[in-house]
Amino acid sequence: MMKPAYVRVVIDRAIHRELDYLVPETLAERIGVGSRVRVPFRDKSGLATVVALLEQSEAKGIRPIEAVVGDAPALSEPMLELARWISAYYCCPIETVMRSLLPQVIRRGEVGWKKQLFVQPGRKIGDEEIEKLRKRAPRQAELLEAISRLEAPIRAAQLLRQTSLDNQTLRALVKRGLAELREEAVVRDPHADEQFIATSNLILNQEQSRALHEITQALDSPENARPILLHGVTGSGKTEIYLQAIRGALSRGRTAIVLVPEISLTPQTVERFKGRFAEAQDAVAVLHSHLSEGERHDEWHKIHSGRAHIVIGARSAVFAPLKNLGLIVVDEEHETTYKQEDAPRYHARDIAVVRAKIEKCVVVLGSATPSLESYHNALAGKYRLATLTQRVDEKQMPLMRIVDLRQERRKEKAAAILSERLRAAIADRLEKREQTILFLNRRGFSTSLLCSNCGEARNCPNCSVALTFHRHPAAAGRLSCHLCGHTAAVPKKCPACGKDALIYAGFGTEKVESTVAHIFPKATVRRMDADSMTRKEAYRETLRNFRTGKIDILVGTQMIAKGLHFPNVTLVGIINADLALHLPDFRAGERTFQLLTQVAGRAGRGETSGEVFVQTYTPFSPSIQFARHHDFAGYFQQELEFRERCDFPPFKHAILITVRSAHEGRAKLSAETLKRRLKEALAYSAEAVPKPEAYSTAPTLRKPLGLRSLREAAKAGPEESIMRLSRLVRETLDKLPFPEDVTVTVDVDPYQLL
Ligand code: ADP
Ligand code: ZN
Repeated sequence: MMKPAYVRVVIDRAIHRELDYLVPETLAERIGVGSRVRVPFRDKSGLATVVALLEQSEAKGIRPIEAVVGDAPALSEPMLELARWISAYYCCPIETVMRSLLPQVIRRGEVGWKKQLFVQPGRKIGDEEIEKLRKRAPRQAELLEAISRLEAPIRAAQLLRQTSLDNQTLRALVKRGLAELREEAVVRDPHADEQFIATSNLILNQEQSRALHEITQALDSPENARPILLHGVTGSGKTEIYLQAIRGALSRGRTAIVLVPEISLTPQTVERFKGRFAEAQDAVAVLHSHLSEGERHDEWHKIHSGRAHIVIGARSAVFAPLKNLGLIVVDEEHETTYKQEDAPRYHARDIAVVRAKIEKCVVVLGSATPSLESYHNALAGKYRLATLTQRVDEKQMPLMRIVDLRQERRKEKAAAILSERLRAAIADRLEKREQTILFLNRRGFSTSLLCSNCGEARNCPNCSVALTFHRHPAAAGRLSCHLCGHTAAVPKKCPACGKDALIYAGFGTEKVESTVAHIFPKATVRRMDADSMTRKEAYRETLRNFRTGKIDILVGTQMIAKGLHFPNVTLVGIINADLALHLPDFRAGERTFQLLTQVAGRAGRGETSGEVFVQTYTPFSPSIQFARHHDFAGYFQQELEFRERCDFPPFKHAILITVRSAHEGRAKLSAETLKRRLKEALAYSAEAVPKPEAYSTAPTLRKPLGLRSLREAAKAGPEESIMRLSRLVRETLDKLPFPEDVTVTVDVDPYQLL
């Protein structure tokens, strides 16, 4: 490394500019690109990331950096390159990108290793010495005896617990020089008390072997490897392929990242990976949002220092600081939770593909229901497609039966939660001692409180969506908003008209649970959703009880739709398949198709084959019909045609610009000005950027966080142009003086259009 005279840095605070600093001789050895440093900034000091080493600088009034934080550069050069790409593509300041790349504990450098006191004998201790001590201080003698028998230093707390003696006694021995205390760093391992049973490679079937062969070939010449889309039905053994592909990367001296949706990052999943790579204790690091700051610090260093070779984690694990990266796996690549909804609004799957390109490694995207984007890329030859059509156990795909709720309604008048057919099927399973999963993607008891006199619904004052009524303890008989968390008491009378005519309408998982328990009083019914699973152990406990057959019927939200194996589940009921379909979002059909297919994959994974009941008011919608016949290709075909006709992704990219203000008028005015300026800018640079082909302004349905918003969507053509469009949007925004209370957010490739 050259000894730099100057460095260019990005300060953590948003100033949209890179600054140069002088490097004092004493720090030159320890500084590199990607180092974290403390620098004087205005009249304070601030943290920053070094982005370049310079021999000279033109800047005026240059000041020296104050300190280097941490031992080695936190970010590698490829990661810095990635940061710049994200900044440009997602139209987001680089300092905001840095915030995603480095966890806060690392950026701030405040949390360190956890230190613990270890005890060992102060010197060699003879028996007679202990006996002498016993007369004067029997407890000290007892402790000394224990210490003298130690084979290795032991944690002080542990020793005191074992001997039932206190700290004072120990301190007395230390004072006499008979015992010695030493501070040592210990790793906070959230999985420390778990046992992992070592597993070995399974013998792959033909389809699996072919898919693995694709991947290993790519591992052999990663420079020109295309991303691989692994499209395999649920239970086709994708995870086994990932495991063997990782083994392949390790044996070539390289490392691997596995991304899974947060919701699938279950103990079961972690166990499969830790079990397969059990030969080295530290080999697998796990990153998820439930880690404590300390645990996150330790896992990050385990990766950064090169002790961990495999990282499994949710969205942000795509930034794991592994060196020598050989493979990135994105499981359930279609999952929308890979999209980050705060700036930088990146999509982890797309970042994986870009990082793989920068670091020349292999990327595998796996799913039973690939996203239209990835599938389109595969059809266009940008990705390689590997397909697994068979379940490993050669079981039939479950039988999917559609229940037309319109007919049920005619029979019963009121909308039933369980149709007759589904009810009969559950009764049948209970008799056979098989298990049932009931799925509804909506929490709570009643989904709205309506006045039967004036028709007013209780809405959230912030978000204008109906408040959901919860019966269960967490929300204790209150109304709550699922968007912002606002809660309100249930009024006795309608606040709008004063009549005592309030009724509960619509239903959520709580009501399904209580209805089912009422219809089947002998069955054990449990619910699993974000309300009932507030404790981490509650989740594990419910899953364990379900697996061991202590629960007959499990009711839940999407939490139970993903990646769980339950051999004895032979029936899955989808209470209302229309929920996603009626969202005003062009991806609604795709989501419904994915959801039905994923949920259906839960049924019949064991000896007996499964059955799925789909209750719906729109039995002939294509997503339901294609899902019913397990016809992926057919579905993709017609959905792609629809997208192309409407100029939607994956054919066009979109940039969503949201203007928010507490004052509707001001938001509107700002949005209109912005729109005019953007149009001018686009027209002016007509050659550089393709003209937006559609342009729309529409007031939104809700007011996020108490603010009115307006959005604009600009669509660009080919992929490279999105970068240019992004830049244009940024430049236009930077030039516009918005009123103080107006905020503007930019979302490239948006997922939430609501
Ligand atoms: P997917 O990830 O596609 O849903 P999994 O990899 O979880 O599928 O495989 C489903 C089940 O089949 C798992 O229990 C797995 O251990 C088992 N399995 C996978 N591949 C094989 C194989 N080649 N031989 C035997 N069992 C296998
Ligand atoms: Zn709200």
